[in-house]
Amino acid sequence: MDEFSFIKSIKQHTYKQASLLKGIGDDAAVFRQMSQDIVTATDMMVEDVHFSRETTSAFQVGYRALAINLSDLAAMAAKPAFYLVSVVVPSHWPTRDIQEIFNGMKQIAVNHHMDLIGGDTVSGKELCVSVTVIGYTAQHKSRYRHSARPGDIVFATGTLGDSQAGLHMLMNPGMYQDYDYFVRRHRMPAPRVSFALNLDRVSRMALNDISDGIASEASEIAGASNVSLVLKVADLPASSSYDQFTAEQRRNWQLFGGEDFELIGTVPESEWPALLQASHETNTAVTDIGYVTEQQQSSVYLLENSQYKPVKKQGYTHLKQVKSSE
Ligand code: ADP
Ligand code: MG
Repeated sequence: MDEFSFIKSIKQHTYKQASLLKGIGDDAAVFRQMSQDIVTATDMMVEDVHFSRETTSAFQVGYRALAINLSDLAAMAAKPAFYLVSVVVPSHWPTRDIQEIFNGMKQIAVNHHMDLIGGDTVSGKELCVSVTVIGYTAQHKSRYRHSARPGDIVFATGTLGDSQAGLHMLMNPGMYQDYDYFVRRHRMPAPRVSFALNLDRVSRMALNDISDGIASEASEIAGASNVSLVLKVADLPASSSYDQFTAEQRRNWQLFGGEDFELIGTVPESEWPALLQASHETNTAVTDIGYVTEQQQSSVYLLENSQYKPVKKQGYTHLKQVKSSE
């Protein structure tokens, strides 16, 4: 199949977003926005760096690629609208599988009324999928990492460590409880979009999504806000059958594993009830996992067995290629 037939096969026949003037089929897409702030993010997935075909199907690669971008929009409290996809296609990937990647993206896109409005298709050595998303917030209503203040409560949505537990199960076949649940949490994460869109009544909030592990995300909030964060390790939320793993695995995956695509944020204590209301209305668990202090020597401290331990290094960085635990 040539490039043109391929593009034709992935093109939507109709679009959902009323603001779209031109989708796929010209040199660029056009949409009109008059009153809202435009929020955009991009994330790239490379075969054997971000996923492996042994553990992930083409459909799941696509689903995940768009899901992780949606998680960035959720972390800004933005309403999803559009996505663009650039793919590098190696000769050993059949076109059918590339279309499956787009089917995976479409499945989650439909749930969020998103339209595919452009991209690029080129051949190359390794499969690489780069997704760009565009969303909206009301003017001045995007949620930033720089909004944490001393005295705030630190919260996390959902449960932590599940994605790494799922990956562990895939890499180490054996007898596990809730295998399908954990594996799904790894392959097809559910970004917290509806929760993020229900936070209007909270006036001040720092927000970040958990892609790299909560210790690293907490440090990003601390750095942007010039504060320090204390995380109460025993209070980190876990799934009910998470205790089938060793204490060391549980702690490592929760603090440094990442890829849960939950949200971490901070709110003033007075706004905790408003946060709980959003949690209730969107059926999204929210847990108090720590608090914000004036800036200290370390940006993040773990409160464990009544002791404060500074967190020294953060999760995974692609340029240095170091995976550290603490
Ligand atoms: P151009 O030469 O102007 O870059 P292309 O031939 O690359 O145009 O693309 C034609 C149309 O198809 C454009 O609207 C482009 O955005 C869209 N397109 C190309 N590849 C993809 C893709 N992987 N996903 C979505 N849209 C794509
Ligand atoms: Mg092009």
